Amino acid sequence: MSAELVVVGGGQAGFALVAKLRKMGDGRAITLISNERQLPYQRPPLSKKYLLGELELDRLLFRPQRWYDDNAVSLVLNTNVLSIDTVRETIELDDGRTIPYANLALATGSYAVRLPTELGGDLDGVYAIRSTSDVDRMSKEFIAGRTVLIVGGGYIGLEAAAVASKLGLRVIVVEREDRILNRVAARSTSDYFYRLHAAHGVRILQATGIVELMESNGHVDGARLTDGTEIHVDFVICGIGIRPHQQLAAESGLKVSDGIVVDKTCRASNSKIVAAGDCACFPYRETFIRLESVQNGVDQGEAAAVTLYGDEVDYRPYPWFWSEQFDVKLQIAGLSAGFDRSCTRPGLRSDSESTWYFKEDRLLAVDAMNDSTSYLVASRLLKMGVNPRYDQISDPNFNLKGLLKNDHSKRD
Ligand code: NAP
Repeated sequence: MSAELVVVGGGQAGFALVAKLRKMGDGRAITLISNERQLPYQRPPLSKKYLLGELELDRLLFRPQRWYDDNAVSLVLNTNVLSIDTVRETIELDDGRTIPYANLALATGSYAVRLPTELGGDLDGVYAIRSTSDVDRMSKEFIAGRTVLIVGGGYIGLEAAAVASKLGLRVIVVEREDRILNRVAARSTSDYFYRLHAAHGVRILQATGIVELMESNGHVDGARLTDGTEIHVDFVICGIGIRPHQQLAAESGLKVSDGIVVDKTCRASNSKIVAAGDCACFPYRETFIRLESVQNGVDQGEAAAVTLYGDEVDYRPYPWFWSEQFDVKLQIAGLSAGFDRSCTRPGLRSDSESTWYFKEDRLLAVDAMNDSTSYLVASRLLKMGVNPRYDQISDPNFNLKGLLKNDHSKRD
């Protein structure tokens, strides 16, 4: 087997890269390698409707098998890439094959952090949410009246908490920071979600960690917490962060930092190789970042395709995210990291609210909870490079939509 382009990773970025190349009319031989059994699929529903049992696997697939056949994309599933030889320009697979490449695209994604073994992280009944098989394995545990302990109050943990609560389970969330969503949001957004979950009976313990998980016959059945309490639990879901899959790249001599380091055009430190998605660390403003989001997977995957096609353009992310918890839709425009002040605006409904993040006078991001007006205005402003004034946004009577008509300070 030989391929002009080998893509490692069948997640959002790997699929977007392949689809974009074909859309541009690129006819080179492509092999897409995934270590999962399924055809490439979307992950966001895993902690939402798929976990809730409202979405079947075939609805998660980006495309059916026929699409790969029609587009001459050779799919190699359930297979790991063991090594990359950047001198011979080959990769070695765990089924014993070696495949030459003219170009290589690394879209290896990320993996869920696990609780350490010595804390009980390997016990039966302790799960993470990263793949369909993770969710399929835990679905038998979702029985009304049972108790689930969710470790980590980030989006994974909170989305899983909402699903479990809807299904009638008792839900306890432990978050070691002094507030949930501490890494990604201002206090007002954290407080909004704390109130939402509390109103649905979810118990959230902040500034609390796990001392150890206890077991009975190898299955988790309790937890000792850092506040000294011991609780009974039937199973545990960990949502304690993700890390980039970068070992393969590092072992082949590619530059890695927190992720596979790429330039603005998604090229890794070897010019035959591109990287995109959760695994890639790229230049953004004055620093290098990784973005753990679907938007980045799609847009950076497509940008890498454009580079491979020969039309090098700089990848400029316009970050957006969303989450669904109970009857709240959260939409986030921009990236709040590095903000130095924020303010909160009430929306039109009693459960609508938005948090606006600034650094000096520059608008960085907005979290909009059941508030599509704020989200739409904010994303337009961010895309246009227009900065509203902090005092305008802080005034609850200020007309946001007027911002899209008037003259404003353009950002540099
Ligand atoms: P995350 O955003 O890093 O949140 C994990 C939280 O768990 C952090 O607050 C972390 O605190 C805490 N934690 C870590 N170890 C703990 C422990 N032993 N005990 C108690 N708390 C602990 O990660 P995530 O929620 O797992 O999500 C993974 C990635 O997927 C993130 O980038 C997330 O934004 C993304 N995601 C996005 C969406 C969405 O946009 N809708 C949905 C799901 C996931 P420290 O900060 O101190 O480690």
